[in-house]
Amino acid sequence: MDLSQQQAQIAEKFEAVTASIQEAAVAAGRDPSTVSLVAATKTQTSDTIKAAIAAGVQICGENRVQELMAHLEDNAYEGAEVHFIGHLQTNKVKFVVGRVSLIHSVSSTKLLEAINAQAVKLQLRQDILLEVKLADEESKDGFSPAEVPAAAALAASLPGVRLRGLMCIPPPSEFPGENCGYFRKLREISFDIRDNLEDNSSAPTILSMGMSGDYLDAIAEGATHVRLGTALFGPRPPMHSNT
Ligand SMILES: *Cc1c(COP(=O)(O)O)cnc(C)c1O
Repeated sequence: MDLSQQQAQIAEKFEAVTASIQEAAVAAGRDPSTVSLVAATKTQTSDTIKAAIAAGVQICGENRVQELMAHLEDNAYEGAEVHFIGHLQTNKVKFVVGRVSLIHSVSSTKLLEAINAQAVKLQLRQDILLEVKLADEESKDGFSPAEVPAAAALAASLPGVRLRGLMCIPPPSEFPGENCGYFRKLREISFDIRDNLEDNSSAPTILSMGMSGDYLDAIAEGATHVRLGTALFGPRPPMHSNT
């Protein structure tokens, strides 16, 4: 497929997805401008990312540090914001802090503190979300709902981070409506921490939830950021195991 064909295909998908996001927002009685599309760019080339941005994508979400670095090198994100949405190892924090406008996937206290330390060193404040593990899955990253208040309080006390909200990755849903309970739960936790945090000037209002299989449900339950890969780019080549 040549570049212009690919461009046309992405533009078509982007328009369709944007229309369905708007429709879902309106159906939920929400202002469509309160829902942002984050293009999940894992495994995509710099040219594909550029095509997506040309089609109207305003935020790219990267999963892997290596891909982030390569795309930055290529200036692939020009015209868009970059977020980090994948599993982040503490020893790779230095490649991410200050290079992305939001880290969605802060999944442990150790990682939170490492991000803070790097941000302080660079004299900046890194916007972050706390990743919350909603299903009872030992293997999954994230804070359990019970751990969130303490993590939020810690984040609020650190000078190098600004807590903007919460993120979740529920199990893939097999039928419409299946993940609504998880999304509702994340919204409830977000209300709880807002009530408990003293610093209301930086109220954590972002809810990063919903992927290609369940973003319409996530929007119905209050998502402010949906992270879409397949719906935008089509099926991905098989992944390696480290995400
Ligand atoms: C890959 C990925 C997505 C997008 O997944 P799709 O099902 O292809 O839309 C969203 N969030 C995270 C964290 C991902 O790794």
